[in-house]
Amino acid sequence: MKFNTKTIHGGQEDIDPAYGSVMPPIYQTSTYKQRSPGEHQGYEYSRSANPTRTALEKAIASLENGKHGLAFGSGLAAIDAVMKLLKPGDEVISTNDLYGGTYRLFNSIFKNFGIKFHFIGMSNPDEIESYINTNTKMIWTETPTNPMMNIIDIESVAQISKKHNLKLVVDNTFATAYLQQPLDLGADIVMHSATKYLGGHSDVVMGTLAVKDDELAEKLYFIQNSSGGIAGPMDSFLVLRGLKTLHVRMQRHCENGRAVAEYLAQHPKVDKVYWPGFETHPNYDIAKKQMKDFGGMVSFTTKGNKQSDAVQFVENLKVFTLAESLGGVESLAGHPASMTHASIPKEEREKTGVVDSLIRLSVGIEDEEDLIADLKQALEA
Ligand SMILES: *Cc1c(COP(=O)(O)O)cnc(C)c1O
Repeated sequence: MKFNTKTIHGGQEDIDPAYGSVMPPIYQTSTYKQRSPGEHQGYEYSRSANPTRTALEKAIASLENGKHGLAFGSGLAAIDAVMKLLKPGDEVISTNDLYGGTYRLFNSIFKNFGIKFHFIGMSNPDEIESYINTNTKMIWTETPTNPMMNIIDIESVAQISKKHNLKLVVDNTFATAYLQQPLDLGADIVMHSATKYLGGHSDVVMGTLAVKDDELAEKLYFIQNSSGGIAGPMDSFLVLRGLKTLHVRMQRHCENGRAVAEYLAQHPKVDKVYWPGFETHPNYDIAKKQMKDFGGMVSFTTKGNKQSDAVQFVENLKVFTLAESLGGVESLAGHPASMTHASIPKEEREKTGVVDSLIRLSVGIEDEEDLIADLKQALEA
């Protein structure tokens, strides 16, 4: 099956043996009747498994070219489950240009459990090796990175990871399986905040994991069931519905993303535009190689780098909504320094480029002309 067909049918064979419904029913139940002790129809208790969640987990596995999918109550709950593969004393090498909540989870929670993190730039994968020692167990990457749109060469990082017998995790939230497939490039685990493009309609918070390896899947399932950070049946249904249009939505996100990036790049009040589709982007060649297109996320700074200019710009927007999050059908704008990345210390965030005037746009699927007109009036007001 090819990708567009998989978004609709992947893992969805014989979804409702009872009545043949085309969409899986929302099994809003905590438990299941047993005929005799231990004699059940595959489901015992909805923390362990729920048929609506199973339908979604199979769809996720299919889209990522994995064998197993797992769905959690949020992206961070999915990351939390991955980190529980580790033990005190273990070390993780992570990208420094990281989703703020992931940084907080690593640095304020898992650090206290004796796990050591090295936050480094990964644009040059060769630099990773100097941080590897006998305690290193995992490499954590995000690409494109948030909000600076750096591109990390997944295949090169995977080769280093394999050579040292580490687990490579890729947060694929920004790209989605439509644009890139990390498991095929050698990653061990692909993680998503399904809250974003997979759900796609800003109506649900969820996280997912996909893996190929049976043993790793079993460990993650054990953690999911033991810790209990699962996705509920109603949310599983919503993300499954969202997935069915992932390919058409992503195509338009990419088209509008390009139009917005090109418009901003020529505007006299704009300083830098961060979007991996520009030939001048430092990682353009890798982006072109590992991604099908360049996505709908665009960041930029204004000339003079004044926070007040950035704040005024986002307040002036009318079609774009000032809000956290990304990946929905509607266009959103955010000010990372005071919103998504406020939990990262100023010196840390400025090292990676998250300066006071930086604005991040999640370009939606509205008409391109309306989006450009909105940016124009907000910049020129
Ligand atoms: C939103 C996000 C997360 C966290 O996911 P939640 O669903 O908000 O818990 C992790 N990584 C990236 C790249 C994100 O954008």
